[in-house]
Amino acid sequence: MTNTQQQIKELEKKAHRELVEIQDPSALEAWRVLYIGRSGKLPEMLRNVKNLPDEEKRIVGKEGNALRRDLEEAYEEKRHAVSKDQEVGLPRVALPAGGAKWGHLHPLTLSMNRIIEIFSAMGFIIADGPEVEEGKYNFDALNIPLDHPARGEGDTFMIDPKSIGGEKDIVLRTQTSPMQIRSVQSMHLTPPFKLIAPGRVFRREKADATHESTFYQFEGLGISETISIADFKGIVAEFFTLFFQKEVTVRLRPSYFPFVEPGFEVDMSCVFCKEGCRICKHTGWIEVMGAGMVHPNVLKNMNIDPEKYQGFAFGGAIDRLTMIRHGVTDIRMFWSGDIRFLRQFS
Ligand SMILES: [Zn+2]
Repeated sequence: MTNTQQQIKELEKKAHRELVEIQDPSALEAWRVLYIGRSGKLPEMLRNVKNLPDEEKRIVGKEGNALRRDLEEAYEEKRHAVSKDQEVGLPRVALPAGGAKWGHLHPLTLSMNRIIEIFSAMGFIIADGPEVEEGKYNFDALNIPLDHPARGEGDTFMIDPKSIGGEKDIVLRTQTSPMQIRSVQSMHLTPPFKLIAPGRVFRREKADATHESTFYQFEGLGISETISIADFKGIVAEFFTLFFQKEVTVRLRPSYFPFVEPGFEVDMSCVFCKEGCRICKHTGWIEVMGAGMVHPNVLKNMNIDPEKYQGFAFGGAIDRLTMIRHGVTDIRMFWSGDIRFLRQFS
């Protein structure tokens, strides 16, 4: 066997051995270029045949061409096998289309966004503040004295002072009102101004259809030299009309809250009936918020002169307004995570 014949045999073995290992098209293409491509090993070898002695030229040429056909056939065979593997592999790579569903915002978030939108349009600033609050903001600054029942452990989640390494009086805020004072201080607001502060609050309450230990409130405050209860009444009537998309009137009933004087409950005309229904307990009115004229002590705590300025404050529960608007009968549904309930608000 001549030297060239020897080389052909070795090339044949090597090419077949490598071809067996190949599993994907790119490796197969690299193999083709290396062995049978235009500048591959075999064509190069065949090009050199012309330099061999005549007798050898004939034999080597014959064997070389046979090997070329052999490798080309093996290549075609492998190409089919590899592309079939790719087709079989296809469904594993591409997931079936369709079936994906868009999510949407939680009903309480939708309500909160709506409240912010309506009050922003009426010139209110949006305030924010911490959920873990100092007692002085949650109670003292709001004219809630130490002996007030709201300060008892029965209503409030207290933070163990030892757990935060101090003597400080820290609570989970029971209302959104502390944000009024915080924002007036931090934003250096001077009258006249109007702001609302929506957010999450916490009460140590046993959950039932109308009570939750965690819920959302929004707080409003308007201060100027001349602002009055009449202004307040007009603003909230406009707010409820826009929120419920129905012409609403409001009425005020005397009530007591430590941070206002006088204080009142706000009722709106029933948005479901004219003569009385189950929702309004056949009165034609639905209780929607607490409010009042800001107590002089609270104004002083905001560094606002109560001799010169006056203002209104109000607070409503976002959960409750959402329940009225959508006819939800159990407040616990909002935190249930029940997808069947939530999908109704998409
Ligand atoms: Zn009614």
